[in-house]
Amino acid sequence: MIPASAPTAPTSVELSVIVPVYNEAASLPVLYERLKAVLESLELSWELILVDDGSRDESFAVIERLGKADVRVKGVRFARNFGKEAAMAAGLHRVAGRAAVIMDADLQHPPELIPQMLERWRAGAAIVTAVRTDRDTDSPLRRWLSLAFYRFYRGISEIALTPGGGDFRLFDRRVVAALNLLPERKRFLKGLANWVGFDQVTLPYRPAERHAGTSRWSLRKLWRYAIDGMVSFTTVPLHVWSSIGALLALASVVYGLWLVVRTLLFGRDVPGYASLMVATLFLSGVQLVSLGVLGEYLGRVFEEVKRRPLYLIGRTVNLPDELADPPS
Ligand code: UDP
Ligand code: MG
Repeated sequence: MIPASAPTAPTSVELSVIVPVYNEAASLPVLYERLKAVLESLELSWELILVDDGSRDESFAVIERLGKADVRVKGVRFARNFGKEAAMAAGLHRVAGRAAVIMDADLQHPPELIPQMLERWRAGAAIVTAVRTDRDTDSPLRRWLSLAFYRFYRGISEIALTPGGGDFRLFDRRVVAALNLLPERKRFLKGLANWVGFDQVTLPYRPAERHAGTSRWSLRKLWRYAIDGMVSFTTVPLHVWSSIGALLALASVVYGLWLVVRTLLFGRDVPGYASLMVATLFLSGVQLVSLGVLGEYLGRVFEEVKRRPLYLIGRTVNLPDELADPPS
């Protein structure tokens, strides 16, 4: 039952705020209060969609409590941890608003930026990307890796990523619909958001320190994320091997000819262990790397043809439960 004091569900929602949540029980109440303060001052109807990505802490209990006190708070709980991309996709699938903002639960994305995002949206932008002005909160290694990734990505991809742009964005309803049309299982929202096009603007902000807990991203997860991000938007790694192979083949033909000529002119010589070894090692390295690249793509094809759902939902708060209420 909804307590009498709770605000009634708005009929037409203007803004949906989507927050992926993984073990953020300590941050959620603070996030809710700060968001509420900001959104209340704007005098618009809003909803907050909290997607619990299989947290192992009290996060979902907190979401249920918030949802009981305020029907504008909606909750979805995944059956297990499916990852932040799946959580964001689940939020986008449930947007009722005319615009949607995606932000992190840990308060690194200041809710106070939302009014400015809405301003840009009302001025006609379909995507407003919050761009970090500095990455003080990241370690130097992570900063360097991130910079290197963006450079490399820009070099080989058909789309450019917004430098410094994270997942803190506002999407117009049209963009949400476009994103929801994309069927791929392995998602990379930073790339997809640029792939869809539309009028995009950026908005600088300073990320705050994490409110509680530690980052969920290990270097290993980031490495996977970077590979996924590239494999989804470029096939250049597949093509380079044909060029490298052709160059190497040409070089070996030239070298082979030189060997034949040399043998004819100067007779046989046995020494050559070093050059043989170097050539063998180098070529097997090249072959292994190219096999690995093929494997990355083949693996993705396999993931996509399985056509498994992006996520499975265990429970919901203030949202229809899809199992109890199948779409007609
Ligand atoms: N997150 C998630 N699923 C995961 C990992 C993270 O939904 O498997 C959420 C997390 O709760 C947070 C956001 O994604 O709201 C960003 O995570 P985090 O702060 O750990 O990443 P960072 O800010 O270090 O990039
Ligand atoms: Mg964070």
